[in-house]
Amino acid sequence: MYNNHKMYKGGSIYSPRTANVIRYSGLFIPIVLITYGVLIQFDIIRIQHTIDNVGLFLICFWWLLVSIFQFFIPIQSRIDAALRLITYHLLAGSYLLFVSGIASPFAGFWLLLMIGSYVFFSERGLQLSTFAFIFLVAVDILFWHNISAVIAAYDLVALVVILIISIVTMSVTRSQEVTKETLNQIKAQELLQRDRVMTIVNNMTDAVLSVDTAGIIRVYNAASLNLLDTNDSLNGHHVDEILSLTNKDNAEVSLYKELQVVKTVIKRDDLYYGFDDGEKIRLELTYSPIRNSFSRTKKSESHDGYIIIMRDVTKSKSLEEERDEFISVISHELRTPITIAEGTISNVQVMMEHPDITHDMLKDAVNVAHDQIIFLANMVNDLSALSRAERGVADSAEDIDIKELAHKLHDKYSESAKAKDLHLDLDLSAKLTSVHASRLYLEEMLQNFITNSIKYTKKGGVKIIIKQSAGEVFFSIKDTGIGISKSDQAKIFHKFYRSEDYRTRETGGTGLGLYVAAKLAHKLGTKIDVTSRLNFGSTFSFTLPEAK
Ligand code: ADP
Repeated sequence: MYNNHKMYKGGSIYSPRTANVIRYSGLFIPIVLITYGVLIQFDIIRIQHTIDNVGLFLICFWWLLVSIFQFFIPIQSRIDAALRLITYHLLAGSYLLFVSGIASPFAGFWLLLMIGSYVFFSERGLQLSTFAFIFLVAVDILFWHNISAVIAAYDLVALVVILIISIVTMSVTRSQEVTKETLNQIKAQELLQRDRVMTIVNNMTDAVLSVDTAGIIRVYNAASLNLLDTNDSLNGHHVDEILSLTNKDNAEVSLYKELQVVKTVIKRDDLYYGFDDGEKIRLELTYSPIRNSFSRTKKSESHDGYIIIMRDVTKSKSLEEERDEFISVISHELRTPITIAEGTISNVQVMMEHPDITHDMLKDAVNVAHDQIIFLANMVNDLSALSRAERGVADSAEDIDIKELAHKLHDKYSESAKAKDLHLDLDLSAKLTSVHASRLYLEEMLQNFITNSIKYTKKGGVKIIIKQSAGEVFFSIKDTGIGISKSDQAKIFHKFYRSEDYRTRETGGTGLGLYVAAKLAHKLGTKIDVTSRLNFGSTFSFTLPEAK
């Protein structure tokens, strides 16, 4: 059917509706004229017409053919439109001239031809159609009726009426078309604006959803699919069906309900999104109602839906919380020795003023303060080792001669073992080459195990065992100490964890040593293994690949 209305370049802008009106007029008006012609033909209407019956029949017949053709075959091109208009003008001209006369109601149909010409060919079309009518009037007066004064008067009145109506019609149409053109421009600008916004939204790393007032998702970006780990379209789904959210107590939260009560922008990070496989991520959600300018001017509460921006903050939140907890634990751990040291030293100051205080009493007090300061120094050492490991400082690898390292450690700790009546032994395989690792990290780990073993062993000794086979170097520190219970074995790598065992509590310690060691092991690409039996001793071991 006729529905591909073209907009000719240089022509006027017309809507499919206007074109349809023209199309139907092109069929029905000729039918009215033909019927009138037939009535004249059969003398039912008696008017004086200046053409014989054959001529009348021919005009009507052609008109019928042309109007049917025009109704069913869409206009193909500019030339096609021009040809059709010329044919219509010729037919209408002959009809007015030979059948009805110009000063008849049928002259009004010329007006429609003018509109048609204007619609397809703008001002130029209108001008031509108007001139054609003036020409027709001139022919009618000058040649057809031999300058009859009466006919001339009638024709001129018809001409003036047609001209006035056509000018009025055209100016109304024109102003409407200008408005339409402006509207089209605004619409094009809006589309451009929309495209720009959509490009930005699509390139955002944050997930963006736009939902309507009923909670149905209308727009979403690629990042939302990534975040929700899906390829399915989200359009048309309810936001609560797509986003199954829970709070920290695992209770379900309906985002739609939350949205309905928001008045401004809300930002929160206390909700979790659960995937189908049970995994949960923590979301940072920003949502707000979308208000259009219309409702804003009305100052009403109504809006056009909601916009939701989401970000996965699981990692940053857990890091942040971990850091906060760490700072609070550290300040607590530091406070105790500082308070004891400070209290003891101010006591010593008071004691020194007192004549009854013996030298030994002062010495004891100073020793207590000294122990606490040593403890603080150890803690600071452990903390700086931890921070080095976390910042990745000193993790540049080098070839480390294992035998040399083993002897160095043995020499370093023999004294402190001997001081506790313990023997510190070396058990090395005959063939030991080297490992490629950060020297600082490896030494720090081994020292940690050795000092712990010496610290937590009352009798017997500690053995440094290093074996090499199949390209792997196996390090192990074995002691005959107090041992670690099964339940403690699960916790000793936690930061600040110290066993509740009274024998542990007899010794000073920060609870950071093994936590740091585990971090270092991770940096070195290995894992610490513990085997221990309460009261029988413990073994801490790990393996590293042999250097190439
Ligand atoms: P610290 O030794 O400063 O308390 P660590 O992190 O080095 O802290 O060790 C954590 C806990 O693990 C210790 O408090 C102790 O209870 C236990 N532990 C570590 N090494 C040994 C060991 N060789 N024998 C027995 N217990 C140990």
